[in-house]
Amino acid sequence: MKLFPTSLIFCAVLSLASSGVAGNVGSPFYGDAPDEHHPWAVHDPNRPQPTIVTPGTFSSAEQPGKPPSDAVILFDGSDLSKWEADSGTAVPTKWVVKNGAMECVPGSGYVRTKEQIGDCQLHVEWAAPSKVEGNSQGRGNSGVFLMGLVEIQVLDNYNNPTYPDGSAGSVYGVNPPLVNPLRPPGEFQTYDIVFRRPVYKNGQQVDSGYITVFVNGVLVQDHTPLEGGTGHMSRSKPSPFPAAGPLKLQDHGNPVRYRNIWYRPLPPRAVEGGTDGVLTAEATEAKRKEIAAMIRKDAAKLKDPANPLPEMLRLTESLVYEQDEETAQKAESLAGQYFENLQKLSGDALAAKKDEVKHLRDITKYLARFGIIPNDAEPKVQLEQFIKEQNWDKK
Ligand code: MG
Repeated sequence: MKLFPTSLIFCAVLSLASSGVAGNVGSPFYGDAPDEHHPWAVHDPNRPQPTIVTPGTFSSAEQPGKPPSDAVILFDGSDLSKWEADSGTAVPTKWVVKNGAMECVPGSGYVRTKEQIGDCQLHVEWAAPSKVEGNSQGRGNSGVFLMGLVEIQVLDNYNNPTYPDGSAGSVYGVNPPLVNPLRPPGEFQTYDIVFRRPVYKNGQQVDSGYITVFVNGVLVQDHTPLEGGTGHMSRSKPSPFPAAGPLKLQDHGNPVRYRNIWYRPLPPRAVEGGTDGVLTAEATEAKRKEIAAMIRKDAAKLKDPANPLPEMLRLTESLVYEQDEETAQKAESLAGQYFENLQKLSGDALAAKKDEVKHLRDITKYLARFGIIPNDAEPKVQLEQFIKEQNWDKK
């Protein structure tokens, strides 16, 4: 028989967690502790919450969708204020805007963004001319150049065979698309691209960079490693990239149209200072130190002579990230105060402390499990002894 609805129990656990006393979901002493390559614990409540983003909507044949709330809009159908000719800074492009799309004027050259873009999620929609002219690489050819260096091919190869590594959705000259999900010419096609540039340290490549591409929602590049910039006829060679570069669209002599172009910058990877994923021992240590300092600062706000528990727990929590003698002594002295207060209680007041004390005992077990306190640490032994004396472990 259930005595309480689950939601009530969950609230109780949460309120224990928020008062700093917990040994369950939401507690800092729950999942595996940080280790040499992971600065965060498993299920770490100190980890920043993901930023809230309002999603956009999908495009239809007639109408472009709405970008997500944090997207940087490069072209929304109205003007080319974010773009310039690829021939020089602030040189206006000769590409034109028609019916909500920007259109390549053959012979006018590439168009590029004024802003410099690095690792990103990029959304682009394009349409080849509905009047079919030319074949192979000569039909509806353009290209999306990430950082101006890596071309994801734009081509009308709907019923138009060409060399596979030059098909729409290919990393041009490097890797063909997994499949050909193109719509007929004249219809808008969507490209959703995740781009990670190569990363070098001291002249050595530490990450080749990767590109993932969906064409019309179908995966065509599956985290494909980059081999440097792409080129025509020549084999790509790995080389360092700058931190960012302009997004370029190719003039290949065909009036290809584009609409609904936006991107979202991506956070750094672990190899370039990011703190999610598997980190080096040095980066992990530095981040753990930073988290510990943040928690200790927070602990100072919890100082309360009448109730030493919240500050004690927060200080103890910081030791999970970084051992520190002064903090450990402070926590131990607060624990001593708590225990003294506890021993003065009796009857209902003491009985009301049962769950709290058992949680504290669980926390000491957690700390011993991860080597943060010795197995025979005084608070742990005291709590175990006390629980035994009260018969609190009996069902
Ligand atoms: Mg091209």
